[in-house]
Amino acid sequence: MGENGRLDTPQWFKELCVWAISSQSIEKMPETMRKFTDSLGITTALHWYNWHQIPFDNDYPHYFPAKEGFREAVAEIQKNGDCYVMPYINGRLWDTRDKGVDDFQFTSLALQATTKKENGKPYVEKYGSKEPDGSEVELAVMCPSTDVWKKKLEENISLLTNDCGVAGVYVDQVGAAKPVLCFDKSHGHPLAGGYWWNSEYWKMFEGIREKMPRETVLTTECNAETFVNVYDGFLTWHFQYQNQVPAFAAVYGGSLQMFGRSFQIESRHTLANRMKMAQQLVFGEQIGWIDPRIVDDPRQFPFFRKIVNTRYQFRDYFYKGEMIRPPKLLDNISEISADWQWQGEQIITMGAVLSGAWRKTDEKDNTVSAVYFFVNVSDKPITSQVSVQFDEIGLKTTANPFEKPVIFEPGIPMAIELFSLK
Ligand SMILES: [Zn+2]
Repeated sequence: MGENGRLDTPQWFKELCVWAISSQSIEKMPETMRKFTDSLGITTALHWYNWHQIPFDNDYPHYFPAKEGFREAVAEIQKNGDCYVMPYINGRLWDTRDKGVDDFQFTSLALQATTKKENGKPYVEKYGSKEPDGSEVELAVMCPSTDVWKKKLEENISLLTNDCGVAGVYVDQVGAAKPVLCFDKSHGHPLAGGYWWNSEYWKMFEGIREKMPRETVLTTECNAETFVNVYDGFLTWHFQYQNQVPAFAAVYGGSLQMFGRSFQIESRHTLANRMKMAQQLVFGEQIGWIDPRIVDDPRQFPFFRKIVNTRYQFRDYFYKGEMIRPPKLLDNISEISADWQWQGEQIITMGAVLSGAWRKTDEKDNTVSAVYFFVNVSDKPITSQVSVQFDEIGLKTTANPFEKPVIFEPGIPMAIELFSLK
């Protein structure tokens, strides 16, 4: 760690404040991202799905050749240096029929490197995708200890970062999925469970990172503590539950970036989306991953833009600083509820004003500063006394902006920044 946080993560990624997610065509994507970026007025990033010719969750891991024009589209999107492209790949699976319904390289190359049950058969998973004949795609879980899988992932990531020029690669499932109890004696690891699953992935990604261009990043699905050392960011799209607290950000904020909530762009989800965006801001996450066509939604885009720009204004707190105790609202404020949609209906209820706080120190100027965020996601003004403990963070402030009750205007993120000598 240095004065700007983690040293092996590029500065653009630490400062990034917003993500789009899209599967649009090669032809449309540059224009879509230009509009998204210009409308927000700050640097953005794109998590690009279905950039490959193979269907989703099918014929993995043969992502190449990419769709025609992919490399040129990446260059077009990134040419001004204000938008970064991060394509999707899966980090665990090899299709057992990996060329339509045919066995292309599965038996000849992959089978020896799949995870095996006690009976010697590979572990196979299904995700609802279909082969051309209508049968379900069966994907084998690869063993991270094997050279076959290490080489294949390294090859795909190198083709993306070195040949296609993308700024990062998202490696699906590695953080999200539990270790598989592999019983294949020929792999050389202890049989079944143990430390080896994670340490073999660490070796794999340490090797991959060495060969990636310096300014590129790796991310994976979910906030898996065991992979903090080999990824720059975690897709926290599963932060979808009642009574969530930012425990992970309190420990790891600044060490790596969290990004991505599960948004549905339709206008009936407007309130749920506001709650998620506000919670992302106060939890210190990069905002989004959202359909870039949100720019055309006059009900949702203005609030989204305000949240993103508030984060941008105070972005250095999130990579240089640390999360501190969120300010507490002392009055009884109204609650709001909305369906956050997670494996079906998921009603989330919370106080209408969300709050969070971050602190940073500047050794050169011998100062400490803190920023307190408040977002009223309801449609009415709310007034409350606020309790803030300055002494526990070493802030010696003479003027206390929280002495009197604070009025929180609806839909307007509020940030109060305070400085003092250390
Ligand atoms: Zn194994």
